[in-house]
Amino acid sequence: MFGFLKGLGVTLRELPKHKVTLQYPDVRPEWPERFRGVHRLLVDECIVCNQCARICPTDCISLSGTRGEDKKIRLDTFDINFDTCILCDLCTEVCPTEAILMSDTFEMAQYSRDNLYLDMHWLHDNELRYERNHPERFQKDAEGNEATETAGEPQ
Ligand code: SF4
Ligand code: SF4
Repeated sequence: MFGFLKGLGVTLRELPKHKVTLQYPDVRPEWPERFRGVHRLLVDECIVCNQCARICPTDCISLSGTRGEDKKIRLDTFDINFDTCILCDLCTEVCPTEAILMSDTFEMAQYSRDNLYLDMHWLHDNELRYERNHPERFQKDAEGNEATETAGEPQ
């Protein structure tokens, strides 16, 4: 009986407090900017240096590129196997051009593991989705860059 009353006391105490649970999937979470979800890829920024693939602890990135007549190297393929990716963020840390970044995409449930091999088109689409969903973050970055450039200008 004492246990029951104690439990009821806890329930009554918690009832008026602010709720932290969400009615997912009807209400979706707003993840912070540094959330480590599935990658997004800026295909044109990639210089095919292979650093992301080399640092990956689970060896789940594979990519290839070719040098064009203008001597510029361009990405041909970029695949991540999300069956083994641990979303550790190391690949984005080493990328010299910030071509590969994390996003807030997190719903990756699949019936087949084969569907967890995602190519550069999917990763690029994820970048476009991220830009569409967070225009304010890109606005903030642009303002930050403008301020840095102005500060760097000779007086
Ligand atoms: S997040 Fe980590 S495990 Fe996933 S691809 Fe990048 S380096 Fe590899
Ligand atoms: S580290 Fe960045 S630039 Fe280099 S291959 Fe990977 S994504 Fe491309």
